[in-house]
Amino acid sequence: MTDHSLQTRLLHSDYKFDPHTGAVSVPIQQASTFHQQDFDNPGVYDYSRSGNPTRKALEDTIAGLESGSHGFAFASGMAAISTAFMLLSKGDHVVITQDVYGGTFRMIRDVLVRFGIDHTFVDMTDLHAVATAIQPNTKLLYIETPSNPTLEITDIRAVAKLAKANDCWTFVDNTFMTPALQRPLELGADLVLHSATKFIAGHSDVVAGLAATNDREIAEQLGFLQNSFGSILGAHDCWLVLRGLKTLHCRMTQSQASAVKIAEKLSAHPLVEQVYYPGFRFHPGSSTQAYQAEGSGAVLSFRLRDEDAVRQFTKHVELPVYAVSLGAVESILSYPARMSHASMPKEEREKRGITDGLLRLSVGLENPNDLIKDFHQALGKIESEAFLQTGG
Ligand SMILES: *Cc1c(COP(=O)(O)O)cnc(C)c1O
Repeated sequence: MTDHSLQTRLLHSDYKFDPHTGAVSVPIQQASTFHQQDFDNPGVYDYSRSGNPTRKALEDTIAGLESGSHGFAFASGMAAISTAFMLLSKGDHVVITQDVYGGTFRMIRDVLVRFGIDHTFVDMTDLHAVATAIQPNTKLLYIETPSNPTLEITDIRAVAKLAKANDCWTFVDNTFMTPALQRPLELGADLVLHSATKFIAGHSDVVAGLAATNDREIAEQLGFLQNSFGSILGAHDCWLVLRGLKTLHCRMTQSQASAVKIAEKLSAHPLVEQVYYPGFRFHPGSSTQAYQAEGSGAVLSFRLRDEDAVRQFTKHVELPVYAVSLGAVESILSYPARMSHASMPKEEREKRGITDGLLRLSVGLENPNDLIKDFHQALGKIESEAFLQTGG
């Protein structure tokens, strides 16, 4: 099976039908415990926190898609990420991208510090800054690329090389790209993490997290931690993620093609001050992105004049849902200054390009021309209201 492309493997894996019944869908094994046939030879499964057949199907599937040997399914992206951080011990130090997901930022700053695990936030696009931040007790370099919401690109292979030379691990949050577009383990990373809530499940109907590795020692420890902390994904939710995965390639391809179109149209509009999308040739990370991923994904950000322009735009735009989250069949528009980055002091936010005029768009499966038309009419409303206000 493994010599087929990922697009085909999404549909034809070892789990394409149930060997007992022929059912062409992974059975949902809604059992907490498993009858032991034999006192001396307990079966593969004993208790669903430690292992469940539906979860095993998802875990094997994500391992295969990420070119890993072991996969793990958790109750959320944050459950996957925080459990992975438990691979560290008191006295260890982490170098982490400054644009890390807000939940990861909070967990590192407010929780891990209490357990004696220290950190340094750096601009990961700057390899020199990463090298300088490494200390004798650094155990982990933690990457998220493209970054949120300004879509900056970190060179995964270069950071992983730096990590190896300093006897550190590299973890990559691959939520924005998914294995359909980027496979960090192939680039030298040790562990890949996902909020499967986003593109992987893809339908805004489940909260889930995944991890995959090809390092036996990490796999053993992470399996132990998953069972110890117990933040596992339930059988029903595992099935929903498996169902979403079948269309992953087709959703990513379609949404990405639309994102390219929309990014171009937005950047040509006079009221859009800047569009952040690594697919633009002038984006500083575009060549790294072209090398390490198959495209630039389906998330872009764009900057309007100010908060008032954002207010007018979001009031008049009709198609995208206005919400936190991303990576769904429907387009999602979010306002980082008030949503994902609301807790960050304004000065800090602006330093990172997260201004009061910045909007993030996760492109869904609508016809891109309908989205473009909708954005144009909403941008038109800003113009006329500004015009009225100035009395012109
Ligand atoms: C949403 C998200 C997370 C957290 O995942 P949850 O499923 O919400 O717990 C982590 N990283 C990134 C990049 C995300 O977008």
